[in-house]
Amino acid sequence: MAARLLRSMAPHTSMALLQCIHSHKSARPLLALIPPTTLGTCRRKKTWPKTFPEEELRKRLTPMQYHVTQEKGTESAFTGKYTDNKEEGTYQCVICGAPLFTSDKKFDSGSGWPSFFDLINKDSITLTDDFSYGMHRVETTCSQCGAHLGHFFDDGPRPTKKRYCINSASLNFRAKNSPSEEVEASGGAGQSAPSSKNEEL
Ligand SMILES: [Zn+2]
Repeated sequence: MAARLLRSMAPHTSMALLQCIHSHKSARPLLALIPPTTLGTCRRKKTWPKTFPEEELRKRLTPMQYHVTQEKGTESAFTGKYTDNKEEGTYQCVICGAPLFTSDKKFDSGSGWPSFFDLINKDSITLTDDFSYGMHRVETTCSQCGAHLGHFFDDGPRPTKKRYCINSASLNFRAKNSPSEEVEASGGAGQSAPSSKNEEL
């Protein structure tokens, strides 16, 4: 009975296969039309020296901090706690504690987000093309942990003419005279082996 059923299905199957091959062929030129930049957007696959379990971050961060740093969100303008902060000190990545900016490089851009015209260390931030929302911007990401920070523009003040437009939610401010400068101690074993915990999804 099963054999009879199979035989009766056979012509059908081969037709379907033929159709499949055919449509495959016709789909090929379409694929070629897709610009390589679209196909190559695999920045998410990049592994960072420091990784943090999602569970830990959800516990430790506010929903806004999580959304901005892990889901490339943006806090509303003029709502972040550091936009008007004029205290002397250092701004660190809220996720991994890497020092990113100092208060003497902060300026009032009028944008509603903390803005800086220079970094502490040029390698501390990774710049990536961002084509979301139908525009081309340059995304800024923490080079240590991959946290989304904000965007980079080249319309800043002298001498650098750069503007790092950063979400307060991505930052942790440490005042100059704050006693606990030791961030590394609490961070733990993040620095030693880059390939120790490769949690690629
Ligand atoms: Zn970081």
